[in-house]
Amino acid sequence: MAMEDKEESSVFTNVSHDPTDTRHHGAITIPVYQSSLFAFERYDQFESAFSDLFRHHIYSRGNNPTVEYLERKLAELEEGEEARCFASGMAAISSAIMSTLKSGDHVVCVNQAYGPTKEFLGVYMKRWGIETTFVDGSDLAAWQAAIQPNTRLFYLESPTTMMFELQDLRACTELARRIGAATIIDNTWATSCYQKPLSMGVDLVVHSLSKYVSGHSDCVGGVAIGSKQMIDRLSKDEYMLFGGIMAPQIAALITRGLRTLPLRMQRHEISGLAVAHHMEKQSYVRKVNHPALTSHPQHELARMQMTGFGSLFSFESDYSADVLKEWANNLQYFKIGVSWGGFESLVTVNSIGGQKSNPSIVRLYVGQEDPEDLIRDIDQAWQQTIQGNRRNSP
Ligand SMILES: *Cc1c(COP(=O)(O)O)cnc(C)c1O
Repeated sequence: MAMEDKEESSVFTNVSHDPTDTRHHGAITIPVYQSSLFAFERYDQFESAFSDLFRHHIYSRGNNPTVEYLERKLAELEEGEEARCFASGMAAISSAIMSTLKSGDHVVCVNQAYGPTKEFLGVYMKRWGIETTFVDGSDLAAWQAAIQPNTRLFYLESPTTMMFELQDLRACTELARRIGAATIIDNTWATSCYQKPLSMGVDLVVHSLSKYVSGHSDCVGGVAIGSKQMIDRLSKDEYMLFGGIMAPQIAALITRGLRTLPLRMQRHEISGLAVAHHMEKQSYVRKVNHPALTSHPQHELARMQMTGFGSLFSFESDYSADVLKEWANNLQYFKIGVSWGGFESLVTVNSIGGQKSNPSIVRLYVGQEDPEDLIRDIDQAWQQTIQGNRRNSP
């Protein structure tokens, strides 16, 4: 039986419930349609399928039933009309960006955005005559000041995933709308469970599905979600012509991850906050960057535009990166690695401003382990690090 009122069903129900689809013989999980093309008995059927290329099954670069299933689930969760899945988060991001621009246009982008996104906008797109101004995303006046007569896109990422700064989504989208610019947001950190940017005026939401949504560190994927009009345009051009599509097996794996996304996010939120609170009390920690902490300068805004929090955060330390890398070596549960969103906790260490002697920024991803074990691990690793340092000093 179809649910009439979507507003009434929670995310938990949404990811678990599916109307029985007779086309799949009652299969309770979406079958993997391992087929490059879909054939027709009659020529009139074949021709009428082309009248709506992205809702019929003709060729898997256009529309595969397994991928389409995940797209429908993701669109529902994000409260968007349509979604399009891609081979990676970057394929979704670069395609979404290009779908809103032409040569000679100007973009305003948050200066803390994901590195490859910044490179795509700030370096690669220059080759096609598109200029980008990077701004302090937390400062609305900076967005305003960066506007040019040819500004056609505001690119947002809130929170950012190293400094965990927010943008005021309602204010930014209102400003963009006033000048006729589109808005795109990278919503990977909060996920569709905890932040609904389309309801705050954003035109296109992009996610890396490689993180929380797939949730098991076993696939790479991306999605763009928005109105039917914007997704159709992106499907016809960037999706079909660049061909960076998601494979059906990957869509089935990500669908499997999606089933437990709300459950996992609840756990990540609690564990992440427990570890963040612990870090705030450590002598070697100068500052913890996590929007759920009352010490975060945009905590009130975070509470207004998100209903929950991810478990990736950072802390700053006056110790050099060399010392903190030694600490990372001494950690047992936290592995050293990029990415996040899987079952395993992760750590990376960088020098602020790139100089070796500078203070450090450490990014922690809190996985599904017991936070008490992670806290014990953090403490033993620090004890070992300072003892080692004492031994090594002259
Ligand atoms: C990982 C990530 C991306 C890129 O996604 P891929 O799936 O690796 O291409 C984009 N934005 C954010 C915030 C990310 O963490």
